[in-house]
Amino acid sequence: MKCYYDFHIHSCLSPCADDDMTPENIVGMAYLAGLDAIAVCDHNTCENCAAAISAGQKRGICVLPGMELMTSEEIHVLFLFSKLDGALEFSDYVYSKLPKLENKPDIFGNQLVYGDGDVLLRSEPRLLSAATEIGIYETARLAKFYNGVAVPAHINRGAFSILSNLGMYDTDMGFKSIEISRGTSVEKLICEHPELDGLRFIQNSDAHSLNNVPDAELYLNLNSCTPSEITALLSVE
Ligand SMILES: [Zn+2]
Ligand SMILES: [Zn+2]
Repeated sequence: MKCYYDFHIHSCLSPCADDDMTPENIVGMAYLAGLDAIAVCDHNTCENCAAAISAGQKRGICVLPGMELMTSEEIHVLFLFSKLDGALEFSDYVYSKLPKLENKPDIFGNQLVYGDGDVLLRSEPRLLSAATEIGIYETARLAKFYNGVAVPAHINRGAFSILSNLGMYDTDMGFKSIEISRGTSVEKLICEHPELDGLRFIQNSDAHSLNNVPDAELYLNLNSCTPSEITALLSVE
């Protein structure tokens, strides 16, 4: 079956995302857009994933628990998990590797944690969008340990990406799939970086506002649209 996806959507727990990116609103927009599977990927946390999964169950949308980790090299890496418990354990681990900086909502934005049914639970006091102590070479192994997959984010972008921060891609990093921004030419990118040839490319929106949740255009071919099938597919070339 065709599984129409967008695996990189920020919720209101990311300081840079809109406050109306609540779990119910994100899933509602995905439903209207005709998407089958989405992932909520906030900076360095999975704390809004449980509410998003619950919202997805009501709408019949597969919601993967996810995260956009910032490595010690200031590279963004998407983590997609097959199960919520692994995601939450990883989220706790990442929290222990985050610098103890206080969020200043007036400057950086709010960091809102929601429960089921869009019940506001709390504001996260620690700034989530900082670099963690986790290095890029650790990420693929860590994702596997927590029953997920790591996918370097927006590799073509001029900031917070492997190519912008390191200048090259090293196959020893162990990734099987790579994210490029929507509308980017895979052929042109491989021409410039032949070391990327053979990897699977996915394209996501990196939506920070409700109107950036994309229409159903891009899809994966799967037997069934489930978190475990999706993470398994992205774990092989
Ligand atoms: Zn990013
Ligand atoms: Zn992002």
